[in-house]
Amino acid sequence: MARVDLNNLSIEFGAFKAVKDVNLSINDGEFVVYLGPSGCGKTTTLRAVAGLQNVTRGDVLFDGKRVNEMSASERNIAMVFQFVSLYPHLNVAENIVFPLKARGMARAEIARKLEWVVDIFGLGNELKRHPASLPPGTTQKVALARAVVREPAVLLLDEPLSAIDEQFREEMRWELGHLQRQLGVTTIYVTHDQREAMSLADRIVLMNDGEIVQVADPHQIFFDPETEFAGQFIGSPSMNFVDLEPVAGGFRLGGSEALLPGDAVPEAVQRAGVPIRMGVRPRDVRITDAAGGLRVDLPVDDTFSVGRERFFTFRLGEEIAQGVVRGARTRVDDQPITLFTEGLVFFDARNGNRIRTT
Ligand code: ATP
Repeated sequence: MARVDLNNLSIEFGAFKAVKDVNLSINDGEFVVYLGPSGCGKTTTLRAVAGLQNVTRGDVLFDGKRVNEMSASERNIAMVFQFVSLYPHLNVAENIVFPLKARGMARAEIARKLEWVVDIFGLGNELKRHPASLPPGTTQKVALARAVVREPAVLLLDEPLSAIDEQFREEMRWELGHLQRQLGVTTIYVTHDQREAMSLADRIVLMNDGEIVQVADPHQIFFDPETEFAGQFIGSPSMNFVDLEPVAGGFRLGGSEALLPGDAVPEAVQRAGVPIRMGVRPRDVRITDAAGGLRVDLPVDDTFSVGRERFFTFRLGEEIAQGVVRGARTRVDDQPITLFTEGLVFFDARNGNRIRTT
């Protein structure tokens, strides 16, 4: 296991800046998930940690030691990608121990390590099977077992579950999280799937356009987004946003007639003297006068149910906003909309940064 530090890491392809002056410290044994939209620089960062990508500026450190000039094999990392390739002519057991044999490890030691990972990954009944006969989930498990059998300092996973059918993916996700905690290996996992990130990560590193937007545990990144981007990217359905227009007695919501009373916006936010954009998650929009809520006079536009939840849309100024309540048959038409005040967050409309109230 190792602690990994990225110090002022920049990676450029010609004039294009894929990773822009990134700083991050990953603790020994930590499970860090890089999350962000396609093309934001996640894989490029992972490849730089692996030693597969040259860095333009800055350093990658393992346990405080600079590894920039070390090759991938010298770094003692293991990497698993979305599309795994096992050796087709070798059975599962032979595939798993391949890296140990390649190192010339003694037979007894190989047998001991095989037993160890087979036990952890629950592959006892699959050892004699060949890759062509394995379901995708099992193939991925074998690839992971092969990756960890030589006890790498750092495990690097690039969308390892995205080629697996939805129905098995969730199961694999649980298993993967459990396995990583059992193994205690420092893990960096790349995904654009927020559900994966939320369920696996000790900490999520949210990236956008080559920069780290926020680093926080899943709970914090959901409830305490630092930027409008974080609020919008994390959570499904997405956070609703509306510009607040100061008027006598409060704020108009995005040019609509609905008025938010002045005391719903913290003093510190009002004192900041910047244009305010408010965010509210669909789950903090209710349809009755919930305690602690603010009733706003806005009509419900449309409704639909998914499973036990009832979604509804309404116009929040120029934007279509969403709310969600429990109960597929909950009546939402002709009901007052209520914004749950504890869920309101306020951003500087000019740059999307959160306006801090403390
Ligand atoms: P995805 O989920 O789509 O893989 P990502 O966040 O992992 O997205 P990267 O693969 O890191 O994104 O790519 C970041 C940006 O750098 C992209 O715009 C990509 O086109 C560009 N890029 C990556 N590798 C190279 C390269 N070798 N040469 C030129 N541009 C590259």
